Amino acid sequence: MSIREPIVVLFTWMCAMCFALAAQAMPARSAIPTLQVASLAPLKPAPTPAQVIHGGMDERFLPSRSTHTPNAVETQRWYRLTIDRDWHEASSPVLNFTGATYIRINVYAPPDYQPHELWFAQTDQLARYSRHHLALELPHDLRADQPIYVQIAADNFTRQIRADITDMATYQAQDLTHVRLTTLFSSVQFTMILAALCLWLVLRDRVLLYFIGYTGCQLMNQLLMSGEMYELPGGSLLVPLGTHAPWLFVALSAPLLFSFILEFCELRQITPRPARALGYMRWPYVLIAALLCFPFAERMHLLASAYNLWFIVTSLWALATIVLAASRHGRQARFFLVAWLPQVLLTVVRLGQVLLALDQPRWLEYGLPFATAFCSIVVTIGLADLSLRARRERDVAHHLADHDALTGLLNRRALVARLHEAVSQARPQHQPLALIFLDMDHFKSVNDRYGHQTGDACLRAVAAAIADELRPTDSLGRYGGEEFVSLLPATTHEQAMAVGERIRRSIESLHVHARGNSLQTTISMGVASLTGPADTADDLIARADAALYRAKTLGRNCVVAHTPLTAVAG
Ligand code: GH3
Ligand code: MG
Ligand code: MG
Repeated sequence: MSIREPIVVLFTWMCAMCFALAAQAMPARSAIPTLQVASLAPLKPAPTPAQVIHGGMDERFLPSRSTHTPNAVETQRWYRLTIDRDWHEASSPVLNFTGATYIRINVYAPPDYQPHELWFAQTDQLARYSRHHLALELPHDLRADQPIYVQIAADNFTRQIRADITDMATYQAQDLTHVRLTTLFSSVQFTMILAALCLWLVLRDRVLLYFIGYTGCQLMNQLLMSGEMYELPGGSLLVPLGTHAPWLFVALSAPLLFSFILEFCELRQITPRPARALGYMRWPYVLIAALLCFPFAERMHLLASAYNLWFIVTSLWALATIVLAASRHGRQARFFLVAWLPQVLLTVVRLGQVLLALDQPRWLEYGLPFATAFCSIVVTIGLADLSLRARRERDVAHHLADHDALTGLLNRRALVARLHEAVSQARPQHQPLALIFLDMDHFKSVNDRYGHQTGDACLRAVAAAIADELRPTDSLGRYGGEEFVSLLPATTHEQAMAVGERIRRSIESLHVHARGNSLQTTISMGVASLTGPADTADDLIARADAALYRAKTLGRNCVVAHTPLTAVAG
């Protein structure tokens, strides 16, 4: 992969360092009162808020081991939170909940025990904190004997909601770091999407559309899951969709991602069979996405688990196929492997954590968006590399379309086009223009005597020798089998005759060595030049051809001018 491989590795390290530094920048927490949690077992009928907050149920709350509050599926829960000593910190306490995306939490806190609803997808233009944690500021003089009652609504998923208490200064510092990191990662992805969109507007390449599609869906999912989407203009429109919104984008991103991989890594060409299987593996996602559009709220966790499992299977299959393609010298596959590997590994860890309902560690929380942003940067470099290769291939195709494969000279079509252009430029400016028609003498006998391959070598050597005698502004093309045409702009008839004579001598003295043979050959030429304003390109060729015919009849190995009809040498 030439110079790019070390650059990509270096770049990876630089990004990893930046991430490590940013993660380290998380402010350390000072020793503050800790939160103690007691939970109320589900009761039938469920207690009213008035019963709970007036202390009527206090003796039925049982202490929990940790600040994690496991939320059972489809059952609302009550918790009673207290601090282990009175609050004496400089700034007020902040009660915050982690892992509470799309669950309504009602907090009844001192001094007035009025309900405060914390709701992840709420739109609030005056929000003081990000949606990272659902937070509520508590009184500055909170005492250990003042309980806080928390009611967590019924949920479709079994997951850990974590309650924490922090002092305001620390909470704000942590929140700011969080916003910085998520903004950084989201901006990188957004920029890459914009860059790909600009490229697509010009190139109209389908692989760019897949990239825009899957990166866009991933970005939308991240913005929704971090809650920031709801603060953006128009974000409130997604509120009624609730948890369906991020799942829909996730389900759509998967088939787009695998379509991108198939196309970008050229898997269908390099690894056809596993690629075909990967192609089929995209279809269940379309079904999952369609099902997610329906309000099957109570079946969401089943759909989500099915998606997660299928995504792990498809990702591992795609990864194995890419590794196989990379081992078969798939250049794009290698690019994608470097880009995607960290993201796949972290996604598998994250899905494992979700499936096992474990707590999300901080390195994983920021590691995944970081890996996604990193992937989009490296893939964008890969897309640039792909278009560079396409440009090179196009240049080669252009060259092949205009040039003769055996001699490397212009082919007949390109030569005639150039002749027409030269005539139309020379005529209005009254510039001279000459044309030499060249034909090798008795070339058939060369083939007959030495074989076709030696004949080819002879053709190549003669073509190179003729080109050596011409100026850079002249054109030389292979007109037919052993016939060449040279176009000499700004050249008078006499000058062209002199050039022809130079060529004739050069070919006469040329020794061609091929396949153990050494042979010599000669060439005949007819010269014509532009005469009047009505002269056309076809006239010029016809006159030079007629002169060449005369050169042949005059005994070959000579240059003959169309007018006056004289042989210069022989
Ligand atoms: P003259 O002096 O009258 O031009 O005789 P000639 O044998 O050169 O002319 P003729 O047109 O009869 O034969 C041209 C030969 O050129 C016939 C063909 O075998 C040979 N030829 C044409 N194209 C190629 C080619 O690409 N490679 C080789 N090796 N021979 C070719
Ligand atoms: Mg011929
Ligand atoms: Mg010939």
